Amino acid sequence: MTLQLHNTLTRSKQRFLPLDRAHVRMYVCGPTVYDEVHIGNARPLVIFDVLYRLLRRSYRDAQVTYVRNITDVDDKIIDRAAESGEAIDDLTARTTERFHDATAALGCLEPDVEPRATDHIAEMIAMIEILIEKEHAYEAEGEVLFSVPSMPDYGKLSGRNRDEMIAGARVEVSSHKRDPADFILWKPSTDDQPGWDSPWGRGRPGWHIECSAMSEKYLGPAFDIHGGGVDLVFPHHENEIAQSLCAHPDQSFAQVWMHNGYLMSEGEKMSKSLGNFYTVTELLDEFPGEALRLALLATHYRQPLDFTKDGVREATARLNRYYLALKAVEDNEDNEADAEDDESTAKVAEETEFGDALYDDLNTPAALSALDQQATRIINAKPGELGVLGEAFRANANQLGLLTEPSDQWFKRGTSDDEQTQIEALIQQRMDARAAKDFAEADRIRDELVAKGIVLEDGAGGTTWRRGG
Ligand SMILES: [Zn+2]
Repeated sequence: MTLQLHNTLTRSKQRFLPLDRAHVRMYVCGPTVYDEVHIGNARPLVIFDVLYRLLRRSYRDAQVTYVRNITDVDDKIIDRAAESGEAIDDLTARTTERFHDATAALGCLEPDVEPRATDHIAEMIAMIEILIEKEHAYEAEGEVLFSVPSMPDYGKLSGRNRDEMIAGARVEVSSHKRDPADFILWKPSTDDQPGWDSPWGRGRPGWHIECSAMSEKYLGPAFDIHGGGVDLVFPHHENEIAQSLCAHPDQSFAQVWMHNGYLMSEGEKMSKSLGNFYTVTELLDEFPGEALRLALLATHYRQPLDFTKDGVREATARLNRYYLALKAVEDNEDNEADAEDDESTAKVAEETEFGDALYDDLNTPAALSALDQQATRIINAKPGELGVLGEAFRANANQLGLLTEPSDQWFKRGTSDDEQTQIEALIQQRMDARAAKDFAEADRIRDELVAKGIVLEDGAGGTTWRRGG
């Protein structure tokens, strides 16, 4: 089975071939840490986590390095701190922690390296010096600008024409531009702004140079995959390509550029005034992180996604079904204790529709349909058929970062220790009533639990409970 990925640069789906089969390398643009993570930010985190898991599985004998940066110096950070009066270091530390909480709740693996921009100023300065030396950049009164006309094939990623590029770059104000499309590599800082000494005076880097310098440091000047949201294609990724290729003309920078589609919320562009601006933290008060993850994976990553709370409710119901299937698998394992070994698990999983879907440019909706069918087969299976089916089902779900907890934990989620003690006491009273042949009392207790949304299951090993759904 070969992995096919859509490359924004070639505008086609192509077979993925790493530059070095012993070391597969991916860079994804991380957050600018000044605000809460919203559900739009969460989409690329989950998508590239699925890709990372797939690369680790496909190249299990190789090293897979996933780098996702933290942008902790940026004008948005400076502006936010000035508005709120919070110290910049406190703001970036606090929002970085919130970001880590959100990624963990969404079931994302940690990247191998998570470089912070402020720890790599020296690398950025060194790269800017190379660009000046090669006449791709120029200094003007403490600013350093990249000279867009110095790169004849600038614009090949976004395919924009010159007028569109200038319109897109207009936000960056500088009176020193020789050409309206030129962009900032370095800018001076006032005394109250974060700044570092440089050959051009005390200042700070532009956003684009951060990613060029950090990806080179950890992955080298040529690596396999560069990812992010479609909103980063221009100008951010276009400018990263310009900087990295002009600094290292004999290198190829990233081979495959992958971009996830836009996210809408409740049918509209997400905005604070429309009430459809959902932060991950708010959503986690209402829904399990795993349901948010599944809701994000139910649409193909390249398509626009309309995120709705109804969609998360559907995802929760879908997970209830998956966990019912998992429970059947777990019960079977408890009885038989003859789980298949890893090798055959992988074989079974890879031969399924599930594997085909995922290898076809991360077709997660098709992979989830295959998982639905597997869950149905398991729920309807006869004892003795569950071993192989169950192992493949769990391996596939785990491949998407789903079903990573025991079913018991899922079904009892949101139930406090006190509530669990109460429920278990009622179950004991019901057993006592049955033992005393007081079936009216036993039924009354069962009804009381049902009214609380608790489903009882009487089995050979006693009575177990779960939240209904
Ligand atoms: Zn970036």
